[in-house]
Order: sequence, then structure tokens, then C-alpha cells
Amino acid sequence: LSRLKNGLERTRVNIVGLFTGGVVDEDFLEELEFALISADVGVQTSSRILQRLRNAIKLRGLKTQDEVRLALRDEIVAMLRPAEADLDLDREKPLVIMMVGVNGAGKTTSIGKLAKLFAERGKSVLLAAGDTFRAAAREQLAVWGERNRIEVISQEGGDPAAVVFDAVSAGRARGIDIVIADTAGRLPTQTNLMQELSRIRRSQDKALPGAPHESILVVDGTNGQNVLTQVEAFDAAANLTGLIITKLDGTAKGGVLLAITQMRREKPLPILFIGVGEKLEHLQSFRAVPFANALVG
Ligand code: GDP
Repeated sequence: LSRLKNGLERTRVNIVGLFTGGVVDEDFLEELEFALISADVGVQTSSRILQRLRNAIKLRGLKTQDEVRLALRDEIVAMLRPAEADLDLDREKPLVIMMVGVNGAGKTTSIGKLAKLFAERGKSVLLAAGDTFRAAAREQLAVWGERNRIEVISQEGGDPAAVVFDAVSAGRARGIDIVIADTAGRLPTQTNLMQELSRIRRSQDKALPGAPHESILVVDGTNGQNVLTQVEAFDAAANLTGLIITKLDGTAKGGVLLAITQMRREKPLPILFIGVGEKLEHLQSFRAVPFANALVG
């Protein structure tokens, strides 16, 4: 928890630094709105938060800056809470998880962390090296799999849809609990590669009807508002079921999580895990209260 708080310190100072114990006037509220926008909360979401704070000030008669800070924290919790979710590992066998994202977001690192986490919970895990473009990515996964005794299915220069098909079929035939399918990093602007994702999806469904059961986008939290574009594009191409937001250790843009939850306000995309460092234990379940506390508590 303190790691999260330390990680978000740069986001936090810009917001909490305003709460100096002075009066709550229009200037203060405008500065607060600006600070939220600077923290990558986004213009619309910041404006919505301010509107709700103004209502609370009026209706509940909030007077001090500290009361406003607590009301802000409550607003943040209310916005983030619907995105709290944990993967149900037992709902299918094998549970097939497809991982997507742009290069450098932390996809490979997160797959490694997840595989270890699942193995620690007693699950058998099979990895599909669906990133057939970069030989280095395949080797990285193979070395990692050997070290951690997790089997990796890969194919030199193969078709990613075929590799993933083989892995899901093998997982099914061998009674594996969880198959994680890696895919090559791609940008929302690379139309062909984005379309390829639906082909990779279909090949999993052919091997096991209903698969993949989870399509998880890994995003780099330090990308701030650009994350929203990635979520939209990957959702259109791969029908996302959840997000992993990495690199929340040391970012000034941690407010982007609020913007993400406001993309689909009725039912936001689950934030399954957040990354607060490069080590295994630095992939944490996302929880609204500690996150809000780290931001403004
Ligand atoms: P990929 O291209 O999406 O597979 O990205 P990688 O998994 O290779 O990660 C890119 C870099 O980001 C690596 O140096 C990782 O160690 C680093 N990284 C991944 N997650 C985190 C995180 O939560 N915090 C920090 N500080 N670094 C991370």
C-alpha cells in the first residue's frame, strides 16, 4: 500500500498541495479543477467531479478545505469502485486469457507475473507465445518459462493465430487450468495488426468454443490520457474484458484511472491489476479505497 502511495506521490502533490487550510472560494475550486486536469483526470471527468463537489458544498454545507478534500476522496472512491474486480480462475477449464497492448506497456512482464501468481494458487498454466514477430520476445518467454517451470508453446516465425490455436487445443486436451495467450505489441493506428486480433480471437474460439474468456489490455499508466485511445481501439478490435495498468510507480498521471472509469459509466471495464514496480509482488489487485487514499487521502 505504501508503495502505491509513494508511486503516486507525483500525482498526489499537485492535488493535495492545494489544500493549505485556506478558504473554499471560487478561486480554490478552479485551481482544484485545473490540478485534476493536470493529473490526467481529463477535462470532462474533472468538470464532473467539481460539479459534484460544488453540490456537496451547497447541500452539506462543507466549509473547510479539509472537508472538501474528504468529499473529493469519497467521490474518487465512488468513481473507482465499479472498476474493482478479480479474475474468477475457476469459471472455465481451461480459462483462456488473451493479452493485448502496445509495445513497451509491460505485457510480457505482466504475463510472467500472472503466470507465477496463478501457479502459486495451485493452477497449471500454459503460455502461448503469440508474439511471433520478435524473436527476442519468443526467447524471453521461453527462458522465463524454463526458469519458472511453466510450459511455453511457440513456433518460429509462425502465424500467431496458429500458435494460439495449438496452445488452446493442447490446454484443453491436457486438462490445463489456465492458458495465457501473448500477442505482439501493436499500435491503434496499425489497422492491419488491429484486425489481426479478431483473427487470433477466432482461432481460440475454434480450439475451444467461447475462448478467449478474458481479453486483457495492458496499458502504461504514464501514457496518461493516451491510454483512453488505446482502450477504445483495442476494445473495438478485441472485445476487452479487463485492464492491467502498469507503471503507477512514479507517475504524475495517475488520475487517468478516473477517466477510464468514466468511459463506460454504467459498467466500467474492470481494472484487474495495477503495476507499481518491476518485481513480481508489484502487480497488485486494484482497490478503490487505497487508490483514492494514495491520491488525496
Ligand atoms: P511489453 O513490450 O509490453 O511486453 O513490455 P515489457 O513487459 O517488456 O515491459 C517494458 C518495460 O517496462 C520493462 O523494462 C519492464 O520491466 C517495465 N515495467 C513493466 N511493468 C512495470 C511497472 O509496473 N513499473 C515499472 N516501473 N516498470 C514496469
